[in-house]
Amino acid sequence: MQETSVPTPPPVERIRHAQRRRTLTVAARERLTPHMIRLTLKGLELHGFASLGADDHLKLIVPDADGGEVQRDITPRRFDAEAGDLVIDILDHGAGPAADWARSVQPGDPARIGGPRGSAVIGGGVVHWLLIGDETALPAIGRRIEELPAGIHATSLVAVPGPEDEQLFRTRGTHRPVWIHRPLSQAARSERFLAALDGLKLPARSFVWIAAEAAIAREIRARFLLEGHDPAWMKTSGYWTARDRDAAEAP
Ligand SMILES: Cc1cc2nc3c(=O)[nH]c(=O)nc-3n(C[C@H](O)[C@H](O)[C@H](O)COP(=O)(O)OP(=O)(O)OC[C@H]3O[C@@H](n4cnc5c(N)ncnc54)[C@H](O)[C@@H]3O)c2cc1C
Repeated sequence: MQETSVPTPPPVERIRHAQRRRTLTVAARERLTPHMIRLTLKGLELHGFASLGADDHLKLIVPDADGGEVQRDITPRRFDAEAGDLVIDILDHGAGPAADWARSVQPGDPARIGGPRGSAVIGGGVVHWLLIGDETALPAIGRRIEELPAGIHATSLVAVPGPEDEQLFRTRGTHRPVWIHRPLSQAARSERFLAALDGLKLPARSFVWIAAEAAIAREIRARFLLEGHDPAWMKTSGYWTARDRDAAEAP
C-alpha cells in the first residue's frame, strides 16, 4: 500500500432526522443470493423518511426468543420516496433474531423500524473509494457504488461465502470489484482481507471505508494506519461482534 498524502480531508456533513418509529408492511421478499434476503417495505408511515448517507442505518425491531423485542442495525439499501419503497438486505448468517425474522417473514407481515437518527454525508474531494467489508457491509457498499457520480472510482473488497453470493452494481462511476471467498463460519477471520491488501496501491484522494466484524475492522484499520494512511481519509465500523454461538445461547 502506498499513496500520496493528501492535505485537505473531505468534509463530513452530519444531518439529524426526526426520531420516529414506523410500522410498515413487507411488500416483497426474495433471496437475492443464497445468503442474502431482500425485503421491500411499504407503508403510509414512510412519509418523512429520510436517508441521505450510503452508510446510514435504521433500527429493525424484531421479536426475540423470549417473546420480547430486540433492535438490530440495518442499512436502508434503497429508498424511493416516489414509489414509497424502502429496500433492506439482511444476511442469513444462521441463528439470530434479525436473521430468523428475515427468513420467516412473509409479504403482508408488519415490519417495524426506527430511525435513521442521522446521516453522515462524506463530501467532495474523494476521487477513489476503497470499500472493504463482509456481507453485512454489502448493502452500504452497494449503495455507495450505485450512488457514485460520473468520474469517481470505487474498488470494493468484500468477503462472501462463494461466487453465487457476489452482487453486481450499476453505477455512473467506475467500479472494480475484488471478492474474497470464505465460508460464513470464518467470517471472524481477517487473514484473507490482510492478504488481499498486500501490494495494493491507492491513488491520491482515496477514502478507505471499512465495515466488518468488529475485531477484523480494527485490524484492517490498524494496517492502513501503519502504512501511513491519513485517518481523516478513513471510516471504520464494527458491524457485528463474533460471539461463541453456544455461549450466546446458554441460559
Ligand atoms: C451501521 C450498521 C449497518 C448494518 N447493516 C446491515 C445490513 O444492511 N444487513 C445485515 O444483514 N446486517 C447489517 N448490519 C449487521 C447486523 O446488525 C448484525 O449482523 C446483527 O448482529 C444481526 O443480528 P441477528 O439478530 O441476526 O444476530 P445476533 O443476535 O446479533 O447474533 C447471533 C449470533 O450470530 C453471530 N453473527 C451475527 N452477525 C453475524 C455475521 N454477519 N456473520 C456471522 N455470524 C454473525 C453473532 O456473533 C452471534 O453469535 C449492520 C450493522 C451496523 C452496525
